[in-house]
Amino acid sequence: MEILRYTDAHKDFRARLRDFMDREVVPHIGQWETDHQVSRDVWRKMGREGFLCTALPDTYGGLGGDFRYAVIVIEEISRTNHGGLAAPLHSDIVVPYISSYGDEAQKDKYLPGCASGDIVTAVAMTEPGAGSDLSSMTTTAEDDGRQVVLNGAKTFISNGVLCDLVIVAAKDPAEPNPHQAISLYLVEDGTPGFKKGNQLDKMGLHSQDTAELFFTDCRIPQENRLGDKGMGFLMLMDKLQQERLVCAVMGVAAAEFMLDWTMTYCKATTHGGRPLSRSQAVQFELVEMTTEVKLGRTFVDKLVVDHVEGCNIIIDTSMAKYWCTELGSRVAGRCLDLVGESGSPETCPLVRALRDARVMSIFAGTNEIMKGIAAKFMGL
Ligand SMILES: Cc1cc2nc3c(=O)[nH]c(=O)nc-3n(C[C@H](O)[C@H](O)[C@H](O)COP(=O)(O)OP(=O)(O)OC[C@H]3O[C@@H](n4cnc5c(N)ncnc54)[C@H](O)[C@@H]3O)c2cc1C
Repeated sequence: MEILRYTDAHKDFRARLRDFMDREVVPHIGQWETDHQVSRDVWRKMGREGFLCTALPDTYGGLGGDFRYAVIVIEEISRTNHGGLAAPLHSDIVVPYISSYGDEAQKDKYLPGCASGDIVTAVAMTEPGAGSDLSSMTTTAEDDGRQVVLNGAKTFISNGVLCDLVIVAAKDPAEPNPHQAISLYLVEDGTPGFKKGNQLDKMGLHSQDTAELFFTDCRIPQENRLGDKGMGFLMLMDKLQQERLVCAVMGVAAAEFMLDWTMTYCKATTHGGRPLSRSQAVQFELVEMTTEVKLGRTFVDKLVVDHVEGCNIIIDTSMAKYWCTELGSRVAGRCLDLVGESGSPETCPLVRALRDARVMSIFAGTNEIMKGIAAKFMGL
């Protein structure tokens, strides 16, 4: 029985997106991996064809679609075996802060550009000395009565080079309670005092532009605060359920890609005159991995249904983020072992898949933090 049902409109959207990926993404991945960023152009093309910000109402240029459209985008990007095009981060993680907490003026100013791909967004929480424990961030936001002045540094910011708009989490130094000190601010690229640092050369997601961001007496209008002052921490927590679900779907979709590729390889490759897939040891590996991937798929599909229905699934999404991203890494390692030396050249799709899957346990809250959240909400 199918847990997650798609309508004809969803299916048509997936078919159009798959065609788009084959035309506009797949041919460029090699170059993007070398450049360490995707092209500006692909963002605009995605926007023009209606593949960005699918949840936004059509008044802002979105589809007004449910979260199943977001899942389709994540899955179709995963099918291209490249995680550099951070459209899900933009559409389903960053832009929802603006659509949920922005005032009408902020929404009118930014959301149409976010949907069209003319505005690429990023969210900057992490600092060189503050990752999991966001309350220890040191970037400050001081209101001098006319403007807000930002000072500090952020690191590992996805879309950090291409972004036109960053949501920056910063603290009011006058507020002693760290959880009540954080607010979120909209900072446009080109604002004096805002500088993008070097692109980080990292282990996975090579075509994802991840960068440091610096704020030095960076003055922004008071109207650029998102939501109420001091509510930043709660706003971040509120949006993490969807962020973690996005990661869980990414983990399962990546595992499905790798398993599918390896299954085909094992059927097509002969050793001693017979296909690898005829060896019982290989069969057992493939059967075990298929079982795990099906478990992951069943789990995330159920959570997507719950999320679309508006259920509070914080415990389950925390579990799914850690388990499904670990599934991606586990499957990557086991597939590589089956393929053997043919899996080691850079040209083997498993190499990039393994690198990209591995890093998923770190972002959007590390997998240890996920277990901590689950434990807390389970009352342990
Ligand atoms: C590819 C990539 C993209 C990223 N994109 C963004 C982005 O767009 N925006 C952004 O703001 N950040 C981003 N990050 C940063 C990411 O969110 C942080 O790396 C993450 O929150 C962990 O922080 P940290 O690396 O400082 O590790 P730390 O918090 O220093 O943790 C180090 C280790 O200690 C463990 N640990 C820490 N605290 C606890 C605890 N309480 N209980 C148990 N274990 C604990 C962690 O699990 C980890 O194993 C990105 C990171 C990567 C790798």
